[in-house]
Amino acid sequence: MVWFSYHGGHSGEFCAHATSTLEEVVDTAIARGFTYYGLSEHCPRYREEDLYPGEERLGVTGLAAAFEAYATHAIAMRNARAGQIELLVGFETETLPPDGWLKAMAQLRAAHPFDYVVGSVHDICGRWVDYSATATAALTADLGGPEALQLAYFDAVTNMVETLRPDVVAHLDLVRKYEPAGFTFSNRVSRAVKTTLEAIRATGGVLDVNCAAFRNGYGPVYPLPQILEQAQTMGIRVTLGDDSHGVQTVGVGLEQSLAAIAAAGYRRVSYLTRADGWREALLDTIGPRKC
Ligand SMILES: [Zn+2]
Ligand SMILES: [Zn+2]
Repeated sequence: MVWFSYHGGHSGEFCAHATSTLEEVVDTAIARGFTYYGLSEHCPRYREEDLYPGEERLGVTGLAAAFEAYATHAIAMRNARAGQIELLVGFETETLPPDGWLKAMAQLRAAHPFDYVVGSVHDICGRWVDYSATATAALTADLGGPEALQLAYFDAVTNMVETLRPDVVAHLDLVRKYEPAGFTFSNRVSRAVKTTLEAIRATGGVLDVNCAAFRNGYGPVYPLPQILEQAQTMGIRVTLGDDSHGVQTVGVGLEQSLAAIAAAGYRRVSYLTRADGWREALLDTIGPRKC
């Protein structure tokens, strides 16, 4: 059996909105039967106005130092636990600052021996889409309505995918986080989603089927079933992401991601290895390793 996740492993040691130490997160992943586990801590932010809530005390300088410490510590842990689990060390991107993010992300990637990059968009023009329903409602109103918000978001994701070419494309439809149960995108937005999927296919990216939405009560796993079905017909590969932010969430909800993948018609799920890059596992060979 293989059991894996490539988006998550955030820890309270290096992320102000997570809990637990990195070591506790890794040892929990081992105890929960993971054979491969990706650590993708948030990249630092470079402007005071881009700090996440709770990071004010650290500031931009403190965040940069925390990220450096994360990279060093995670890479040391990758070696220290090598006999028990294969850790893959990467980071989760931002499209911030709006001017210059691509260069900033490329510099981060080059500065450390990372295994992979998780490409994420959490903002539109420097305003968060996933921080709170109130903030997203205000952003939606300023942009001219939900469809305008969604089009701007998928445009930003397409641009991120085409320019950064991330290994994993995170929570593809994060922009629908606060939409009600049963929500589906309009035809116009669905065409923009198709453009994003075409960019993912062209750059060889792998879709993160991320159970955080389901676990936190924000509808089905990311992305929605219709998007996952379309990705399947286009031959786009998928992988698993628990988006863990502490030991409580390591692996929690991944069975929902697997169920969504199966329902979309996939028979195989991709998993990243340090030695051979991406490999594929049949659905019935995926699950926690029994000790
Ligand atoms: Zn986070
Ligand atoms: Zn994210």
